[in-house]
Amino acid sequence: MRTCPVCSCRFPNFYPLSRGHLEITNRLGVFYSIEDFETLNLGQYSCPECNASDRDRLYALYAMHHMNHPPGQPLRILDIAPAPVLSAFLRSLPNARYRSADLFSPLADDKVDIMDMNIYADESFDFIVCSHVLEHVRDDARAIAELYRVLAKGGSAILMVPILLTIDTTDEDPDERSEDERWARFGQDDHVRMYAKHDFVARLRHGGFHVEALDTLAFGAGTFREHGITEQSVLYVGRK
Ligand SMILES: [Zn+2]
Repeated sequence: MRTCPVCSCRFPNFYPLSRGHLEITNRLGVFYSIEDFETLNLGQYSCPECNASDRDRLYALYAMHHMNHPPGQPLRILDIAPAPVLSAFLRSLPNARYRSADLFSPLADDKVDIMDMNIYADESFDFIVCSHVLEHVRDDARAIAELYRVLAKGGSAILMVPILLTIDTTDEDPDERSEDERWARFGQDDHVRMYAKHDFVARLRHGGFHVEALDTLAFGAGTFREHGITEQSVLYVGRK
């Protein structure tokens, strides 16, 4: 049986990723295979009960079992570009003081450009979730610097992007105008880069973060499998 850590339901299998994404990549004849992304479970993608994706489940496992936060203290959370299911989960964490930020979504608490988060004071959050945002942002170095600035000392930030394991250098071009080209090179029509693994970690370190790469060993044998997360998945946590 599998368990979803977001909604705690148990069932035989998660649902696979929808085929629409694959149809686009096939039409464009892209150079990559979707199986070569580091953290992405095609076969066991979404929860049949709450719709949480494999990465939502990975973040929930981290928040429940691996985040070192003093018990009883308020947990000031910043959720950037919130996903509804994970947002509800984060709000339910003990002592949560939750804030969400997005440049476009009317559902977010604050309308914020991640490259300039001046509405937040320095070191005002203990836990940040920034998942699948940086690959959309024109200047990711500025965004990473802002994330580091608003994170409190001792805090942790989940910093995740799509990582293609078959490339050695990041391909980026915020000025690429063609939608098909953006699909083909960057994996989605609103992405401006495709990250290589070592380069992504280097960019986070350059921004000041101490980076932890938590893999299946860090979470314990069988944990990823039970929760529908592939063995090649890695959670990147930036600490300050
Ligand atoms: Zn669920």
